[in-house]
Amino acid sequence: MKYRGFATRAIHFGQEPDSATGAVVPPIHLSSTYAQEAPGQHRGFEYSRTNNPTRQAWEKNLAALEEGSDAIAFASGMAAIDAVIRLLHPGDYIVASSGLYGGTVRLFESYWTRFQITVTYVDARSAEMVQAAVRPKTRLLYIETPTNPLLYLADIAALADIAHTSNAWLVVDNTFATPYAQQPLTLGADIVVHSTTKYLAGHSDVIGGIVVTRHPEVAERLRFLQNAAGAIPSPFECWLCLRSIKTLALRMQQHERNARAVAEFCAQHPAVQVVHYPGLPGHPQQELAQRQMRNFTGMLSLELGSAERATRFLTSLRVFTLAESLGGVESLASHPATMTHASIPPDRRRSLGITDGLIRLSCGIEDTEDLVEDVAQALDASCS
Ligand SMILES: *Cc1c(COP(=O)(O)O)cnc(C)c1O
Repeated sequence: MKYRGFATRAIHFGQEPDSATGAVVPPIHLSSTYAQEAPGQHRGFEYSRTNNPTRQAWEKNLAALEEGSDAIAFASGMAAIDAVIRLLHPGDYIVASSGLYGGTVRLFESYWTRFQITVTYVDARSAEMVQAAVRPKTRLLYIETPTNPLLYLADIAALADIAHTSNAWLVVDNTFATPYAQQPLTLGADIVVHSTTKYLAGHSDVIGGIVVTRHPEVAERLRFLQNAAGAIPSPFECWLCLRSIKTLALRMQQHERNARAVAEFCAQHPAVQVVHYPGLPGHPQQELAQRQMRNFTGMLSLELGSAERATRFLTSLRVFTLAESLGGVESLASHPATMTHASIPPDRRRSLGITDGLIRLSCGIEDTEDLVEDVAQALDASCS
């Protein structure tokens, strides 16, 4: 293996100098069609919905980083998730972790139920509860770990065992962790999905998705869907992902450094009732976090106790921007109850632990001191 370490693979895999010109940065191939030497004789490219050199480079790169056999890129994270659900048949069951991305729940409940796909939600922190929810027709276990916004973890290896003894696949939405922090396929998962919009593209300027699998037969079916349904990313977006992935390792290190400093500061501040961060000593799943993750990312959440305090905190921030989304170089803060999770009925939201006083922070890669100082002054303002 020429490219062993993660950062080396991220920089070089699928991105070798262009064989035609020697260009060190691969070109963006905008062409929709490709010259053929004779009818049906081509060099692997016929039409860019089917295959495109820039997209293929990005897919090869991410397949290598997730240790999969293949990756299939889509126009958004939701398009990637939708393609995975299309692998099922009417009458199939999904067991999903509670606390999934809201758009995923919306797709399941408002769309896939019409095709007789039934989804049961369980607290996937408990492998026993997942096991108990599995039925004979369960074909997918679908989880996020860490979850949004409370950063609960699920034991990927244990859930992979449950899936495989039940003739099901384990799907992990690895958007929050990235392959730098956690590689679900090496722990037994069958399929990984990403919203590349977040950490992978990392600069808040791309919407994209990708599916990675270690099973060539699954890859073949997804490749068919990519071409047949056509929810593809543009060559330019694939190129932006290739450009961004080169700094993923460095970015994740700084995201984590910043989140850890903010989490440690908040843990001793009287205005903060609870800090949710898997990298903090005292996190209820520290042992699993250490076993399964090698980086705890820039995501954390804080319980401030009331909607009024949350609002005062959020409107006092100066470096953090109040906005949805996450994983970019700039720090963002959000209020899940009124923003990302507003569509969930209040009772259900509260039972999931998403209170009106909960704040979610996506720590960017700015200077650590600036972020801690910003959070400090906003916390002081929140209880004044
Ligand atoms: C943002 C997000 C998605 C959806 O991705 P889009 O690129 O917005 O379509 C799916 N899962 C998770 C965990 C996300 O954060």
